[in-house]
Amino acid sequence: MSLSTKFGFAERVGKRSGRAYAVHVLGCKVSQIEADGIARTLESEGYEPASPGEPAEVVVLHACTVTARADRDALRQLRRLRRENPAALLAVTGCLAERDPEGLSRRPEVDVVAGHGSRLALPRLLEDAAAGLLPGKVADRTSSPAEVLASPFAAGGPDRTRAFLKIQDGCGRRCAFCIVPSLRGAERSAPDGEVEDAIRSLGEAGVPEVVLCGVHLAAFGHDRGGSLLGLLRRLEARPPACRLRLSSLEPMEAGEDLVDLVASSRVVAPHLHLPLQSGSDAVLRRMRRGMTRARYRALLLRAARANPRVHLATDVIAGFPGETDAEFAETEALLAELPLASLHVFPFSPRSGTAAAALAERDAVPAAIRTRRAARLRALDATLRRRYAEAHDGRAADVVALRGGVGLTETYVEVALLPGGPPPASRFAASLALRPDGRIEARPAVPFSC
Ligand code: SF4
Repeated sequence: MSLSTKFGFAERVGKRSGRAYAVHVLGCKVSQIEADGIARTLESEGYEPASPGEPAEVVVLHACTVTARADRDALRQLRRLRRENPAALLAVTGCLAERDPEGLSRRPEVDVVAGHGSRLALPRLLEDAAAGLLPGKVADRTSSPAEVLASPFAAGGPDRTRAFLKIQDGCGRRCAFCIVPSLRGAERSAPDGEVEDAIRSLGEAGVPEVVLCGVHLAAFGHDRGGSLLGLLRRLEARPPACRLRLSSLEPMEAGEDLVDLVASSRVVAPHLHLPLQSGSDAVLRRMRRGMTRARYRALLLRAARANPRVHLATDVIAGFPGETDAEFAETEALLAELPLASLHVFPFSPRSGTAAAALAERDAVPAAIRTRRAARLRALDATLRRRYAEAHDGRAADVVALRGGVGLTETYVEVALLPGGPPPASRFAASLALRPDGRIEARPAVPFSC
């Protein structure tokens, strides 16, 4: 999983007439898909979404724990949810529940803690908790990881403009900074055929873009003798009625053939999110990334050669333990040189239980320096994003209309739509123009078809 998690806050609430629930999620796309699955599981057991602004009887917080900041956000949300729903049964699920069940169970706001293996059993756990039958707050693992992944499910979001399909879980690597492998278990993939069918069904149902997600998406199929490349080649040979987009891919697994395919595909959007984490070979070794600066550079230049318009994005950690000024300068220089469109910057924060946390005890970069380095990289990110968006002036694009008067190009640039223009979830060919306010505007050319 990349560290490109966006700490957004999403809610699933609505009009109700039965037992009212609300599911809240903090975390990455995989977490959002899982939260959507929890909502559907509750609905299949007779729960109904709570009306907006009204207290729910059951509240679920599906929370991330990838950084210390994610933990702080989750605890703040927990306090808020308890304040707003004083009589509710409050359950915590997700990676945070998996990492720190005992700590959560000591919090007065929390009634039930259910890790990944207990997610499917949540309705029964909630009923047991309401009846006082749950011994303690922490649920025993009741489902196997394979059951949790039983079938990939789409989280279309309320407006169906884009669907997110989780097709892989777990990670077999051990990057020094990452807690994810110990929370998510071994790599496992949904069956190719099911994934292909789900994509085709979503396209036929009118969803214009499907985003394939996984904890370690580049490893999709490896546990079944298949590969992401094989899946995409089949879809390329017989295109679905929607465009595809890939969430982040670890560069050490992605490989040249996959990068070539994505950069020049007629089905997959030309958008590659390849987490670098550091541009210094010494730091990459300490991170146990299995990747070098030279290999990463070659991969990105190859993608840009195949398609100069491809959106290349990366993740970078500022102030990994022991990172010297010279090592940081190598990272900064590499990022400035590569044809990148955007950066996701994370000041290093230790996760207990990781190798990097032990390194940080001996050789931490002072917090002020981490902050300063992150600020420099964020300034570079702002420049890259502006430059990449401005390069779209005068171009043709394949745009999906989202809600709120904005659209998304195949190259992952958010564009302004004309008032009264195409409705949400429509997909159209557009010509793009840079406005005086610096935004890119999409003007429909002809209705777009796959
Ligand atoms: S261990 Fe490495 S490859 Fe696996 S999820 Fe974490 S960052 Fe990604």
